[in-house]
Formats: sequence, C-alpha cells, structure tokens
Amino acid sequence: MSRAVSIVAVALTVVTTSVCAQTTDTEREAASSILRRIDSLEARLKPTDMAQRLATRTDPARDRVLARVAALWSGELQGVSDWIGHHPEVGWHEFQAVDTLTALLRKYGFTVDTGVAGMPTAFTATWTSPAGATGPTLGLIAEYDALRGTQGDFHGDQHNAQSPVALAAARALLEQMTQDKVPGRIIVYGTPAEEVDPPAKQILWAAGVFKGADILVRSHSSVEARRDRPGFGVCCLNIDAVKYTFTGRPAHQLTAWNGRNALEAAVQFYSAVDHLRSTWRPEHRVQGVIPEGGIAPNVVPDHTVVDYFIRFPDEVYLEHIARMMDDAAQGAAQMTGTEVAITRYGEYRDGVTVATLEELFFAYAKKLGAPGLQEEKGRPAGYEETGPVSRDVPGVSITVRSSAFANHTYGMRDDTFADIGHKGFVIDAQIEAAVLYDFLTSAELRAAVREEHKTLAGLQGEYLNALRRVYAPEIGADTALSKQSRADMTVPKVQRP
Ligand SMILES: [Zn+2]
Repeated sequence: MSRAVSIVAVALTVVTTSVCAQTTDTEREAASSILRRIDSLEARLKPTDMAQRLATRTDPARDRVLARVAALWSGELQGVSDWIGHHPEVGWHEFQAVDTLTALLRKYGFTVDTGVAGMPTAFTATWTSPAGATGPTLGLIAEYDALRGTQGDFHGDQHNAQSPVALAAARALLEQMTQDKVPGRIIVYGTPAEEVDPPAKQILWAAGVFKGADILVRSHSSVEARRDRPGFGVCCLNIDAVKYTFTGRPAHQLTAWNGRNALEAAVQFYSAVDHLRSTWRPEHRVQGVIPEGGIAPNVVPDHTVVDYFIRFPDEVYLEHIARMMDDAAQGAAQMTGTEVAITRYGEYRDGVTVATLEELFFAYAKKLGAPGLQEEKGRPAGYEETGPVSRDVPGVSITVRSSAFANHTYGMRDDTFADIGHKGFVIDAQIEAAVLYDFLTSAELRAAVREEHKTLAGLQGEYLNALRRVYAPEIGADTALSKQSRADMTVPKVQRP
C-alpha cells in the first residue's frame, strides 16, 4: 500500500470537505466536537513552529549524522537497495532479503532475532547504547516484500529501498550515540509481507513486539513529498478480510441427494451478499471471490471458500456490515445443510497521525531540498497500514519523491535503480535520522509528541463511541425490530363503536 492511494482518497474527499478526515455525513456529525478539540490541541502545541525551530537550529552533531547517512548510503546501502530490487521476493518468501539485512545489522553491532511472532521472515534487530538503555527507544520499520506481476515478481512499490534506508539512519545514529555517550536503544523491525494478508504488522503488534518503542519511523516510495494532517484516518478505508469456508458432504453426481453441496452454499451466500447491498450505506465497498469452488462436476463439492474484502470508511459501520454477512453465511449454510467456518484473517483500522512528527519530517524535507514538495496536507492515515501500531506508538511515514511513476508500476520499479530513486532514498534516510536524532536529544519534542499522541488516541476512542451513538438507530435496527414485534403482540386498544 502506499501514500499514492491516500492522495486519491484526498482528492475524493476534498469535494465535500477540506478540513477533516471524515468521509460520510455521519462521521462528520460524530466528529464535530472532537475536531474542534484537535484544533485547539494543535493551536497549543504549535507543531509547525517547533519543527521549524528544530530543523533550522545549528547542531553540528546532527549535521555529522546526516553526512554520515549520505556516506553510508553511497558506500554500501544503495548497492543493497539495488540488489534487493534485482532479487524480488513476494510476501512471506523474503528469505534472501532478510539474510542480507540481518547479516549487515549483526555486522553493525545489533542483536538479531529472526522468526519473530512465528513469522519466518520477520525479525527484530536491537542495539543498546554503551551509555545504557535509560534513554528513548528509537524504532525503524523495514519492509522488503515485492509485488506479484504478470511478468513475475517485481519491486514496483520500491520496498527494496526501505530497509537500506532504515539501516543507513540506524547505523549513523548508533555511531553518534556511541561517540557522544547518549543512552538509549535502536530497534529495526523487519516487517514482512506488506502487500499480502494476513497483516504482518498487526500480528507483530498483537504479539507485543512493538512494546517499549517510544517512536517509529518508516519510509515509503512516492511521487511527491507530502505531510498529513493530525487526527485519525486510513488511506484506503477500514477493511475486514474474511474467508467463509463451507463444508458439505461428497456424493456421486447421479445420486447428488446423498451429498450436501458446499458450492450451492457458496453461491447462495455470494448472491445473498449482493441482495444486501441496498440495505447498506452507499459508501461500502464489498467485493468477494470464490477461490475454491469444487474440483470435479461428477462429485458433489464438499469444500468451498468465499473470500471477501469488506471495506467501509469507519470501523463501527464496518462491524455492522460484517455481522450481517456472517448471518448471511450462516443462513446459506443452514438452507443447504452444510456448515460454515468464518475466518477473519485481516483487519485494517484507522491509524493516528501526529502533527509534531509530520511537520518535523516536512521541515527536514524542505531543508534537505527534497523534490516533489506539496504544501497541501494529506488526510490523516497513520504511518503504517494496519492501524493499531500507530494507535499505540507515535510515529511518522517519510515519503519523498523517488519516482515519476505511480506506485505499483514497472516505471516505479525502474526508477528504484535510477537517479530519481537513489536521490529520494538518501533524503528519506537523512530525514529518518534527523527525526530520530531530534527525538533523542530534545526533551521538548518528546513531551509534545507524547502529549499529542496520547490526546489523539483518547479522542479516537471518544469518536468511535460517538459514531456508535449516531449509528444506533439503524445499526440497532435488528434489536429494535424484535422489540417492536413483541410490542405489536399487545392487543390494540380499540374503541367500541
Ligand atoms: Zn508499499
């Protein structure tokens, strides 16, 4: 996924509102007082001013870190980026990339754990300062999976560069912290399979892998450099990824009545979902496929799978749609004498965006002459695609122009080896290092980031509760209906003529 998709969402949203992250009237109604509170928080914290102060101040140690990042990039890490780019591996199969990256991290002095949270291509690399671990824990997210394409696997989203970018920043900071005896820790989180389900970062989050990180940074390819507004939101709607597995009983085609047809169940369910669409708010995006529909026409299929991506702008109404779909699946199973198992294999939710870090990223992008600067802010989208990580840990996704072509294209893949890519990546790495350096050395920034993140995460909880209240009349319709029917059973008081 990419920031490019979020920009499409912005373009669509701007038609109705240019100030908030909410898409529907219902969301806007629920958010109105919360948006005012976000505005007053930002007015008090003044993140743009603070970012400006930090980025333009004279700090020889920081400038040495940035110079070192550039040297590390041109000396070794650009080659690593190109090598991963020429050896694309899709999600869950990124073994060569992980071997290469973890070998480098060990060489730099990190302690590496592989197979983290039960995922063979996930890793953490931890370094503790010789001055002790009492300082902040700086986290860097590193991705490395390729896309699947008709011409084979390819790095059309430039994930090949993301880890070398993180490694350049991490190593330059490690050296500075060692030399200047700054306490703290650096953790590089190797997160596989960004492009395929289940969502690896959510699995890592659920396993507690991100616990202890005070900040997380991540870079991503883009056609431009744009910061997002503070608040909560997501690039491409909230998503439930759900598999419905129907189990019947096989039989010969000529005596099909002895079987229970799991394909009939799947088809009934698929069709029922289409009949439900008029019952749902129009912003829903629900699309499914039937990847397993039986093997042979002369055997009654006893096993089928229907796979849906259920999307809605907010997670409260999304849960409502998902519940109705579960009911439809149960209904299809019941009518066909089959059984259904429902597997919710992926969840993507709104993330939290903090202006204190977005503005700092942008101030450094300006300072370092990043190409493709866009003054207009994007909608809040968190810094990672799953949501819960950014609700727990403040962070920022750094995106500067690294291609003239849109995400997920062969043009973007080709640009990863060209000047435009290489130039974008070294600036990504320098901004990552600068943001982490400031977080490490400025107590004022740390306090502001913590306060902003804590406040926004709390307001997000309030927003979701407000949405539940606003939706109650229609989402609670089933309960209301059954109460209504009980009420209808009371004998009407009819006046005798
Ligand atoms: Zn991506």
